[in-house]
Amino acid sequence: MSAAKKTETAKKLAKIQQDLGMKTQDFENGFVHYLYNMLGRNVDADVEYQFRALSYTVRDRLMGFWKQTWNANNKSEHKKAYYLSMEFLIGRSLTNNLLNLGVETETEKAMYELGLSLEEIEEAEKDAGLGNGGLGRLAACFMDSCATLQLPVMGYGLRYEYGMFKQRIQNGYQIEDPDHWLGFGFYPWELQRTEYARTVKFGGMTHLFKDPHTGKLTTLWEETDDVIAVPFDVPIPGFKNNTVNTLRLWSACAEEDFNLSEFNAGSYFEAVAQKSEAENITMVLYPNDSSENGKELRLKQQYFLVSASLQDVVCQWDKKHGGNFTDFADNNVFQLNDTHPSLAVAELMRIFLDDYAMEWDEAWHIVSSCMAYTNHTLLPEALERWPVPLFQRLLPRPLDIIYEINRRFLKQVAMRWPGDTARFRRMSIIDEHNNVCMAYLAIVGSFSINGVAALHSQLLKDGLFNDFYQLWPNRFNNKTNGVTQRRWMAACNPGLRALLKEKIGEDWITDLTQLSKIEDFVHDKPFRQAWMKVKRENKARLAQLVKETTGVEFKVDSLFDVQVKRIHEYKRQLLNILHVIHLYSKIKRGDTDKWTNRCVIIGGKAAPGYAMAKNIIKLINNVAEIINDDPEVGDKLKVAFIPNYRVSAMEIICPGTDVSEQISTAGKEASGTGNMKFMMNGAVTIGTLDGANVEILEAVGEDNFYLFGLKTPEVEEMKHHYNPQHFIDSDEDLRAVMGLLESGHFNQFEPNIFNEIINSMKSPQDPWMTLADFRSYINAQHEIGLAFQDHEHWNTMSIINSARSGSFSTDRTMTEYNDDIWKLTPLDVG
Ligand SMILES: *Cc1c(COP(=O)(O)O)cnc(C)c1O
Repeated sequence: MSAAKKTETAKKLAKIQQDLGMKTQDFENGFVHYLYNMLGRNVDADVEYQFRALSYTVRDRLMGFWKQTWNANNKSEHKKAYYLSMEFLIGRSLTNNLLNLGVETETEKAMYELGLSLEEIEEAEKDAGLGNGGLGRLAACFMDSCATLQLPVMGYGLRYEYGMFKQRIQNGYQIEDPDHWLGFGFYPWELQRTEYARTVKFGGMTHLFKDPHTGKLTTLWEETDDVIAVPFDVPIPGFKNNTVNTLRLWSACAEEDFNLSEFNAGSYFEAVAQKSEAENITMVLYPNDSSENGKELRLKQQYFLVSASLQDVVCQWDKKHGGNFTDFADNNVFQLNDTHPSLAVAELMRIFLDDYAMEWDEAWHIVSSCMAYTNHTLLPEALERWPVPLFQRLLPRPLDIIYEINRRFLKQVAMRWPGDTARFRRMSIIDEHNNVCMAYLAIVGSFSINGVAALHSQLLKDGLFNDFYQLWPNRFNNKTNGVTQRRWMAACNPGLRALLKEKIGEDWITDLTQLSKIEDFVHDKPFRQAWMKVKRENKARLAQLVKETTGVEFKVDSLFDVQVKRIHEYKRQLLNILHVIHLYSKIKRGDTDKWTNRCVIIGGKAAPGYAMAKNIIKLINNVAEIINDDPEVGDKLKVAFIPNYRVSAMEIICPGTDVSEQISTAGKEASGTGNMKFMMNGAVTIGTLDGANVEILEAVGEDNFYLFGLKTPEVEEMKHHYNPQHFIDSDEDLRAVMGLLESGHFNQFEPNIFNEIINSMKSPQDPWMTLADFRSYINAQHEIGLAFQDHEHWNTMSIINSARSGSFSTDRTMTEYNDDIWKLTPLDVG
């Protein structure tokens, strides 16, 4: 194409974009066009078709900004960051895209004109559940903030056919149903980009090869089973700033797909079978939160993500710079979301050494200057270690490289601490059981290592990574997590948004510290009443969800006490249930003086292989059934387990919550982000001094936070002489609760099913020390009950919690990542 023709075409394209329009009539026209012309339906079609038509209409309007951002990124020479993550827990996108484009009113009107309801259409969207919990949701919030801050950041992840399983409750037990979120391959927000497909190698063997001309030794990795990585791009719009960043999700495709015709009939079956094996790589998300199980396919997924993404970045660099990598590290930085993508260290070395014939030292200098690692857990069982034999079979060449990285690294350790063989053994990337320790690989290869809350980052330095901290103190830093207020306030709490708009305008949507201005109105009567009214309406909406999903009826003037998160022993849903049983036992004893009616909501998924967690769900449901069916209890206490906890459920749950339960054993929760969503929406926290709770407490002050439980050093100290029986013997209330549990009161026709739970709590080895915190938890809950009766006081605490949540925005988190680690310049796309 001639240059003149190109310019002419570009002008035409720009005009098409402009002509699309952002007015009510434009959305109406666009919608009708897609519904009639593309989908062949009428306005009375199923809401799924309405959703498709509207999402295409919106996508059209993202496309121009998306191209503009993409071009701006490619044109100018500037540094870029890449967020590598095995999970992006996106949830729904329509509402968020309308918000960030600033066209909610126009689309709502357009739908209304057609006799349709925007809200109903929004609810027809399936959640993109490409993550387990906090870590995946964090990645999604990061993407939103980067686009809003106009940071040139690209996300890289996997396009799983099946995301997080759907949870159903049957007879109190969790049942997992597959989540075929793509429906019939339909996800309106993605754009397949076959032209950027990459090849990823597995298996085979390596051998040295001497170049006959140069005499240089190179390693060949041959006889591999190759898999094609096909990218699907998802647009990530910033808030009203013409920026649309990209989340690139890789899908595995068998190589045979590209040349099936070459197969002869004889091997047809094998060819197709091989195809499905290759495509299995991105078939399903592993549903384990904070624990790994050493599955071969999981390691394949990790390498697939890393290899495709790094090739993508390096190829594009190479195209522009003709194989000159001198400035590569100054212009590219990779953020590793936990150790899942830490193979990036070895893979980027492989690409430089094998594909670009670079010398080791030069390659290592670049690699170790552009990798940054975020740690997400202190639980030792969650630290990824892969058996060397497995590595050898799947990834022989990356393993070679890891050995060499380790050899050189240990030389450095020996130099620093001569003769300290114990330390030498502790720090080796290959451990004494012949596993590759992924966290150590990430640390050795990264210039920055961060935890996700102040306490967590400190504990990393003091404990888990202390040896490495001594060696490289300057690499360690903290980046406290956050959440995006666009999704978690503006979009999910329209009542609050309207009230805030009236009082302080809308600047808080891109600068959450502005929320502090509402403290000026804390004594303003109309404002206080409006605040209470918003909360009440949100509680009614939540009560409706509970009714629909569980059949349990909540009264809105009760205290809504909520714990939703993955089910895990360290998060201590059990402690919550002990409190519920305690309240029940008080009611049965007639000890209901100054009673506060309470509705307890618990929700969350258990990893399918985590028997204890699944049993905890069963216990919650059994306790709920006994309590809810007891006429003597009535409205004094209601308990509901909300099934299938996910992003779209949380969007209804957090605005309608009074009390946010953040009750993990101190030192075990890295940060938590659910705690921040609740706080922003005016819930008061009951929590231990753990993760970001520490910073939340600091922000709101002790008068506006219900703190209880052992502190981290006390937990550590008590380990040595923990005696749960002592707590039972010395506490009448705990004795009553354990008595009810042990008598089989909640499992009369299901003998012994809770024995393991009971025994774990009574074991001196219980790492979560549930019974040690029982008394102080019960006392704090009692205080909450009393405080809630003083509606005005409670309202003040609610307002203050929201007002002081300004620093828990991912806008703040991303600004810190950028200032300290990435050092990118915001890109004005015009
Ligand atoms: C925020 C969120 C989480 C993380 O919750 P924590 O309480 O921090 O563990 C998990 N799942 C979903 C769906 C979320 O929205």
